[in-house]
Amino acid sequence: MATKAPRGTKDILPEEIAGWEYVEENIRKICRLYGYEEIRTPVFEYTELFQRGIGEGTDVVDKEMYTFLDKGNRSITLRPENTAAVARAYLEHKLYADASLTKLFYIGSMFRHDRPQAGRMREFHQFGVEAIGESNPALDAEVIVLAMRFLEELGLKDLTLAINSVGCPKCRPNYQDKLRDFFRDKLGEMCSDCKSRFETKPLRLLDCKADSGKEFMKDAPKMEDSLCDDCRSHFEGLKGYLDSLGVKYEVDPRLVRGLDYYTKTAFEIKYPPLGAQSAVAGGGRYDGLIEEVGGMNTPAVGFAAGIERVLLALSMQNLLPEKKNNPDVFVVKIGDEANVPAFKLLENLRKAGIYAATDYAGRSMKAQMKQANKCDAKYVLILGEDEVKNQTVQLKNMENSEQETVALDDIVDKIKNI
Ligand SMILES: [Zn+2]
Ligand SMILES: [Zn+2]
Repeated sequence: MATKAPRGTKDILPEEIAGWEYVEENIRKICRLYGYEEIRTPVFEYTELFQRGIGEGTDVVDKEMYTFLDKGNRSITLRPENTAAVARAYLEHKLYADASLTKLFYIGSMFRHDRPQAGRMREFHQFGVEAIGESNPALDAEVIVLAMRFLEELGLKDLTLAINSVGCPKCRPNYQDKLRDFFRDKLGEMCSDCKSRFETKPLRLLDCKADSGKEFMKDAPKMEDSLCDDCRSHFEGLKGYLDSLGVKYEVDPRLVRGLDYYTKTAFEIKYPPLGAQSAVAGGGRYDGLIEEVGGMNTPAVGFAAGIERVLLALSMQNLLPEKKNNPDVFVVKIGDEANVPAFKLLENLRKAGIYAATDYAGRSMKAQMKQANKCDAKYVLILGEDEVKNQTVQLKNMENSEQETVALDDIVDKIKNI
């Protein structure tokens, strides 16, 4: 047990880091362009935040949370998503005081106790943005475009965007009634989850994986036909903004998403080759959340993207950058007298911003040269008995094998200049 990471978790090894950095750098670049600032919230929160912010009766809260009592008997939960926590931080620190709109992004680990499978771990990483304070559909469009840009700038192709409106507390109850009327006589053919959600969350019957293939599904009433005037004009506004940029999308009436706090816009970006776990980013508007966690009625919109799935998609398109970490200089030392001068030389090189490596095992010169070759160092510096005595060093260019003697005092500058 002690020699294995817990089920559903994974070490990210040095050889994989180039991919993670590539994604993270792209996130920071894009977020800066759109004016989103980073926020880092705790990995755990009081359980109540998620019960209120995500909602009881959702899979996440009922089945998937890592919840435990701490030593002070408080119920603590490892965050299963980060929107509720960002909303909590927004209120706690009165971020609304500075401006009517607050734009935030985050990158971090989330935790859900689920059956692990490819692209779905128990500890997984998300990048997300939240724009809190405005209800303008231009902001919904901006958030969607940001998500698409993030994925496209990484090089991903063949992404699909689906949008829908899930209405608001004014028009949704009426739609829920229509859904119940539609599904009531079909429940016998549906899964047990659907049966138990029928009364409280009839929208979830629309995106049930087990029942999605059933013939009657395509006749289910559509939210679009039940939207109130406010939701309808918001949805039309969103589509207009997306059209103005030529963003391709499909209106998917069965896109309802799993979380309770969504209002109006819902969207999902898929990379279809990933199969069952093809959703790489999803989000929408959640005008009810801030109030739900104890604030004033505040509109907000955002999304989250699964970084592991993005990396999986990148590797399928051969877009992951290669790990490239070969030293600029390898210092070869011969004889004990060279140890301290070589140690000082290494430090001087590094201080000057040069990546310098050496041997620590006291190997022969031949073995050290082999090592320098193996790590693909551009230059080798050789410090032997004579060099120490004369305060010089042999500089060898590994590409053309040219070698010259350089004064020890000049070598850092010389390398810096080439
Ligand atoms: Zn409405
Ligand atoms: Zn079902």
